[in-house]
Amino acid sequence: MRPPNIVIIFTDDQGYADVGVYGAVGFETPHLDQMAAEGIRFTNFLVSSPACSPSRAALLTGSYPVRVGIPNVLFPHHNIGLAPEEITIAELLKEKGYATAVFGKWHLGHHPEHLPLSHGFDEYFGIPYSNDMTPDVSKNPNPAAQRHPPIPLVEQLEVIEIEPDQSQLTRRYTERAVDFIERNRERPFFLYLPHTMPHMPLFVSERFQDASERGLYGDVIMEIDWSVGEILGALERLGLDEQTLVLFTSDNGPWLVKGENGGSAGPFREGKGSSFEGGHRVPAIMRWPGQIPAGLVSDELVTAMDIFPTVAGIVGAELPTDRVIDGKDIWPIVSGQPGAKTPHDVFYYYWPSALRAVRSGKWKLHLPHTYNSIEGAQIATETFHGIYRQAEIGLSLFDLETDRGETTDVSAEHPEVVERLLALAEEAREELGDSLTGRTGTGVRSPAQ
Ligand code: MG
Repeated sequence: MRPPNIVIIFTDDQGYADVGVYGAVGFETPHLDQMAAEGIRFTNFLVSSPACSPSRAALLTGSYPVRVGIPNVLFPHHNIGLAPEEITIAELLKEKGYATAVFGKWHLGHHPEHLPLSHGFDEYFGIPYSNDMTPDVSKNPNPAAQRHPPIPLVEQLEVIEIEPDQSQLTRRYTERAVDFIERNRERPFFLYLPHTMPHMPLFVSERFQDASERGLYGDVIMEIDWSVGEILGALERLGLDEQTLVLFTSDNGPWLVKGENGGSAGPFREGKGSSFEGGHRVPAIMRWPGQIPAGLVSDELVTAMDIFPTVAGIVGAELPTDRVIDGKDIWPIVSGQPGAKTPHDVFYYYWPSALRAVRSGKWKLHLPHTYNSIEGAQIATETFHGIYRQAEIGLSLFDLETDRGETTDVSAEHPEVVERLLALAEEAREELGDSLTGRTGTGVRSPAQ
């Protein structure tokens, strides 16, 4: 049997509540809602970092960002990127004869040795980092952005445009994606579509201007939803529906300091850049007619790192044996096997190299740290980039089953739970390090850069 096609649609800074079925207000996402109705959606899906580059590193390698040396956001002046020795999903699938492509925002290093063609992708078209890393003050009013060079649009290894019209990016990525699907209809393919949007600054094509009642942010999500519809439509038209696993998720929580131009984490506290649930918990939908039962909703704890080993299992690829893969094969949950449980006894919230919180089951222990808070922040305007308020949290235990908004510290009532989670934190420090305590991890295989 031909192994299935894999499609990963990865949006940027889309919050937990920014999909119709997750509670979106003021805009609609009919294609994503339909995708969820035809497959499974997750309500306890975590990304491994509350920011762009490290979240991508974890998605593509199945490992914690600190383990693979990308704990923080990469900028245009950096010379670093995802280490060539790291094995990505694309490399795994290329070994199995897949055609591989990425159209969109890469953000794992913009020099040739770090770009997608060096990480298992046959084709690349997109901008290599965030769309606000530009000296254009109309796109980024932060004076610090003035040091950036103009944004390149890259095809394969060539810069084909400078400061491309961002209102056309979602459409152009989508057209490339559909073309790639059509060209590879007769062989297995891996399509990775990391949208530039809805990362600030927001841009939308003319067709979707004022499409929503939520302003530009809603319009942008509606265009992304259109894009999802184009992908699903192409698969159906080519008779590939039952041969294709499609995954949709976001790289991190909403950029709340952007106000109306940022998304919503719904019931969860804080957003992008924080270790509260709003930073890590994102919408996630998977669809594969005939393999994934329709209409499932799972509240099991799963992570973006699980996609790597799960895909490996589906296509019959051997997982690397010379390294630790932190993700787990979650196919029993994805395929709706009765009683399937999370394979994760523990999840670690790092940002960037600091261990800030530990999760086990319903319990989440925050370790003392300072963080960027939306409470008391100065919200962005057209000419002002916005500034978070620095806040502090002490050792705090939250019961996410009864208190998903992380409002009530119950550490005094459950000292034995605190003790257990502190022991798990110590294991993480030993393995992955912790900048808060000055520890270097023995399991870090690519040095933090
Ligand atoms: Mg992001």
